[in-house]
Amino acid sequence: MAANAADVILTNGLVVTMNALGDLIPQGAVAIKGRDIVAVGAGEAILADWEAGQVVDCDGAAILPGLINAHTHVPMSLLRGLADDLRLDVWLFGYMLPVEREFVSAEFCRWGTKLSCAEMIRSGVTCFADMYYYEEDVAQTVADAGMRAICAETIMTWPTPDAESYDEGLARCRHFIEEWVHHPLVTPAVGPHAPESSTPEMLRASVELALEYDVPLLVHVAETTVGVEETHEIYGVSPVEALQQHGVLQAQVLAAHCVHLTEEDRAILARHGVGVAHNPTSNLKLASGLAQVTRLLEAGIPVGVGTDGQASNNDQDMFEEMRLAALLPKGITQDPTAMPARKAFAMATILGARALGMDHLVGSLEAGKRADIAILSLDTVHNVPHFDLSPDNVYSQLVYAAKAHDVRHVMIDGRWVMRDRELLTLDEAEVRAEAQRIASQVGAFLARREQSLVDKLVALGTLQWGETYEVQVKVRVPEEDAVVQALLNCPEVMVIKPSERKQYDTYFFFDDPETGIIRYREDYLLDRGLELKPIYNLTLRGPAKEREYADSVLLSRSRFTADADRSMRFYREYFSPREERKVDKLRRRWRVKYRGVDFAVNLDRLIQPLADEVFLELKSRTWSKHDAVQKAEMISELLDVLGVDKEGLVGDEYVSF
Ligand SMILES: [Zn+2]
Repeated sequence: MAANAADVILTNGLVVTMNALGDLIPQGAVAIKGRDIVAVGAGEAILADWEAGQVVDCDGAAILPGLINAHTHVPMSLLRGLADDLRLDVWLFGYMLPVEREFVSAEFCRWGTKLSCAEMIRSGVTCFADMYYYEEDVAQTVADAGMRAICAETIMTWPTPDAESYDEGLARCRHFIEEWVHHPLVTPAVGPHAPESSTPEMLRASVELALEYDVPLLVHVAETTVGVEETHEIYGVSPVEALQQHGVLQAQVLAAHCVHLTEEDRAILARHGVGVAHNPTSNLKLASGLAQVTRLLEAGIPVGVGTDGQASNNDQDMFEEMRLAALLPKGITQDPTAMPARKAFAMATILGARALGMDHLVGSLEAGKRADIAILSLDTVHNVPHFDLSPDNVYSQLVYAAKAHDVRHVMIDGRWVMRDRELLTLDEAEVRAEAQRIASQVGAFLARREQSLVDKLVALGTLQWGETYEVQVKVRVPEEDAVVQALLNCPEVMVIKPSERKQYDTYFFFDDPETGIIRYREDYLLDRGLELKPIYNLTLRGPAKEREYADSVLLSRSRFTADADRSMRFYREYFSPREERKVDKLRRRWRVKYRGVDFAVNLDRLIQPLADEVFLELKSRTWSKHDAVQKAEMISELLDVLGVDKEGLVGDEYVSF
């Protein structure tokens, strides 16, 4: 006679406990009362001891601990497939950040989170660790969907969609933690984005906040070599050492990626009990490198598996992630024993729970833990046949053969969230429609932007506004010295500032000439022949000259300039021009006043394309048509003053030579 009352009994399935002994129980059962697992064991024994209003026959299925996605950015589901196969900087600075600046709002985060929750529940995920913005909206949506999560409000030096500055981000984070710290499903957390996007002060403030409320701290660590270099520039040490130096590792830390670590870094992580989230698909797709997961595990570090956001994955399928986590170490080490399926499955369950600091609650099927459970059909064709030679047969099947859509039922915290593949806490049709509605707005924004170089420049966020017009003339001069003497000896010309420079220009041309031209300039100021550190800038020039005055004086609607703080390679990949041309020259330059008006006088010797000639350029900025006419006339005069033969006038730019 059953003496104990439960609410639900799952019976007649293969129970994969992931407990310390690694027990597998064929024809096993799990009894659930309220939110907790109250008993796990052989089906007959459980049914003898327990009774429940609901008994679910799991014949032909495995009863698994719900999978744990150790690192993601759930609202980014709305950016799935937006921009792929790009280098990390182009992807991030060219697409993700501009789109996030424009679109990420509380509403965006709610719908993105719903889409991700639907996708994760469908693939047997019951718990995840998230880092994004508007985390209070993420948290509320997660709680409504009945999922378990750590939600970290992201903090960084740059303005974010929900905070103008880092202190505002920190204040938001504090408020979020205060509101959510006692929630049964959502654990709020502090999310300093990464050491290289923080400062020592920010890292210290973040860890103080985490310790004050005893909440986890989530951070990206050593994802890319560039990030590691930037960390060295800011802190003089590796990302892990920087976290240690500023006290961050005193908190319960979950470090995402950890791709580029040293032996010492691993020792530090192990010493401080830091959990690591390994994101194989994201690291492969963004070509960040491959984490040495076996070394992390050997060092005693709990490693979970994460999908990362859908913008870099592009899904939240933990079965795929587990499989990659099992396969990659084999390929890297050329050792098929490097990562057994059992270990990979542990990373997606109990080790993931340990990495998140939640193994006392979830990660295995044991009495006393929360009832976070996925029930997976083992009778689909790709799962047939089975062998029962050893437990490894089961893990092989789960990791190498099973698919996300084999998941039939999902329970979280004792509550069904999916039965017979039907979602119970989310309106899937509505979520799909809203996701597409928002994505269409993002798509239209990018389509518009792609047609305008100005918009593309603006999107990079470094543009210095100020469209100006310029009048200019260019003329061949056979006698360089004669021009210089004339300039310096003319009483009406006052030289303000002479300089000598070497300029390497790359011009981007586009299919439609109306688009304009982009010039990337490396400008080296020469000081007594020595090249000083260059200044890089980017100039967008309007499509064509607006007007030509007498003596080939041109009025050109110039331009938008921006500091070029990224590499030439970045701009090439971001703007994808049809054609590139280079112009290198030595420039002697004088800023002068001629009859009280500012002009620039340039004497240019072209290095590439090689022209054994010197050109004189006279330029002045202008703001009105009337002013332009006047300055065009003054330029003609100046040519006479400098004794220049107007036979040598050139209407073209160097780049058109
Ligand atoms: Zn991430």
